[in-house]
Amino acid sequence: MRAIRVHETGGPEVLRLDEVSAPEPGPGQVRVRVVAAGLNYIDTYHRSGLYTLALPFIPGSELAGTIDALGPGVSGWSVGERVVTTGGVGGYAELALAPAEKVVRVPEGIDLKVAAAVALQGMTAHYLVHSTYPLKAGETCVVTAAAGGVGLLLVQMAKALGARVIGLVGSDAKAALARGAGADEVICYDREPFAPRVRELTGGRGADVVYDSVGASTWEGSIDSLRLRGTLVNFGNASGPMPPISPLVLMNKGSLFLTRPTLWHYIATPEELAWRAGDLFGWIASGRLAVRIDREFPLEQAAEAHIALESRQTAGKVLIVP
Ligand code: NDP
Repeated sequence: MRAIRVHETGGPEVLRLDEVSAPEPGPGQVRVRVVAAGLNYIDTYHRSGLYTLALPFIPGSELAGTIDALGPGVSGWSVGERVVTTGGVGGYAELALAPAEKVVRVPEGIDLKVAAAVALQGMTAHYLVHSTYPLKAGETCVVTAAAGGVGLLLVQMAKALGARVIGLVGSDAKAALARGAGADEVICYDREPFAPRVRELTGGRGADVVYDSVGASTWEGSIDSLRLRGTLVNFGNASGPMPPISPLVLMNKGSLFLTRPTLWHYIATPEELAWRAGDLFGWIASGRLAVRIDREFPLEQAAEAHIALESRQTAGKVLIVP
């Protein structure tokens, strides 16, 4: 089968199209014929070596398709079922593996490409606003990269909870998309320091929470945007990781809370996975949640897909289609 493999870590050029043998599902695994793999920022961290995987590897943990084979000991699943997973192995390929316990059925009426587009970023947005810092009606949140894959979904979910949303974006076109998703205010953070503007927009008080996925270039502004005892949720490293800080910074800046969550710990049980995925599919079916697929790349153009994501050209989801 055709697959993208990384033989050594580095820039997008290390994503190479190879002919490899089909993976055999091991105990507890299913094999999926991939309709689409979702591109996520974590794929770039694996490719660059920021997060380590054993070489060589096929990137891609988010994928949707149909079950093609069952490994030993798998029950409750049948060949041909339409599924999506965020815990797959080797999604940038025609066939990929996933632990059966991390696979979710895709309801009839939901396109498999939409499922691949929403699963990882949608469940991330879901846990951030419902579990990490559960937003309440009337609270103010700041969302970095508000027109990004996670961002557009996060803005919609925060609005649905009744919060006021201040979105940070890198261009006018992205500002329009963030507003379209429901952001009450939008700040172009490349043009002006955003913390003073957030203070102004909140009457000097500051935001209750900042959901910061940009990291290195935004964390200081994020801290300066918070109210007393506000919460900084640093959940990504799009501009590089947030550096270590002393707990005394949190004291001096207003007895702040800092957390650095990851999706895997918020879908650790079958119940949590089913809850978050079920909410997403329900909201899509009822028209309450819109999923924006920015563009699709064929498998052989995986490097171009990474370049587009890392150079801030995309808004919403990017898919890789074998
Ligand atoms: P996005 O679609 O949000 O793309 C990244 C965006 O970050 C860009 O479009 C850009 O938006 C913004 N950005 C700002 N500065 C930079 C920079 N220097 N280089 C690149 N981008 C920059 O990606 P995803 O939705 O896939 O992921 C968003 C973030 O969320 C990532 O950091 C990812 O690691 C994190 N994440 C974390 C998870 C978790 O559980 N912890 C799970 C899923 C994602 P703009 O131009 O508007 O600034």
